[in-house]
Amino acid sequence: MNNNSSLSHRKEEPENGILYIVGTPIGNLNDISERALNILKKVSLVACEDTRQTKKIMNKFNISNKLISFNKHNSSSKIPIIVKDLKEGKSIAIVSDAGLPGICDPGEDISKSVKSEGLDIICIPGACAAVTALVSSGFPSSSFVFEGFLPRKEIDRAKILLEISKNEKTTIIYESPKRLKKLLNELLEFCGGDREIMVARELTKKFEEHVGENINEVIEFFNSKDVMGEITIVLKGINKNRVLHLDKFSIKKDLQDLINAGLSLPAASKYLAKKNGLKKSEIYNLI
Ligand code: SAM
Repeated sequence: MNNNSSLSHRKEEPENGILYIVGTPIGNLNDISERALNILKKVSLVACEDTRQTKKIMNKFNISNKLISFNKHNSSSKIPIIVKDLKEGKSIAIVSDAGLPGICDPGEDISKSVKSEGLDIICIPGACAAVTALVSSGFPSSSFVFEGFLPRKEIDRAKILLEISKNEKTTIIYESPKRLKKLLNELLEFCGGDREIMVARELTKKFEEHVGENINEVIEFFNSKDVMGEITIVLKGINKNRVLHLDKFSIKKDLQDLINAGLSLPAASKYLAKKNGLKKSEIYNLI
């Protein structure tokens, strides 16, 4: 295959020299496609984040094939070997521990390297925790922001949290159970307790749980519990008109203070518009 080939004329899968990014379940082992199983059965080898995880799927569907480990600790040494194998005509499947390889896991590194070598990648779609949580949330889902795991460094983290606090689009975040409470408290600090949220725990599994409605309630829910399992957080975007309504009085007061301090109305409005993420005309409209 090359960039100009037509997908409607594909040969039987798997094809030689192709890297298959194979989506696997995020919990429920039945969430895997026939096409994915066929690829896992017939490729020359399967590169997996954790061979024990992948063996669970292989055993359930009676598939035996060569597995090699490919994870964040060995990716730099394994990538050149995988690229060489692809160039020699092998077909290789890459699977992560859960979901779609490349979404917050080492699948991202291998795709980048394989593409830069001019080799072809085919994705066999499957479950992804971010999208599964998003569509379960009932929040607007046709346009959204996926943040993955937030950075650990305080300054980078604060920057993203500030962006989330102003975002009109739905935001999706991955978090580990042991850091969930810390993140919820940060969200409270930056976004306020009223912001609508859904914490999805153990999606597709037996004890799947969706916890909402707003940040205050979710904090209260998890406060007395040891959080366990896999967590994805979905936050509804802000409604700027509502913010304007809620803050109308404080913004009006700030405007008056700035004018009393000697600023002109346009200068004070410009300053407050920038500070509150609003248009200058919206500040004018307040008076
Ligand atoms: N590649 C995966 C995907 O497509 O979703 C994500 C891999 S990332 C290393 C793992 C994170 O995904 C977890 O820490 C959690 O935030 C989220 N996740 C995975 N499975 C989940 C599940 N069953 N329920 C909720 N969140 C899940």
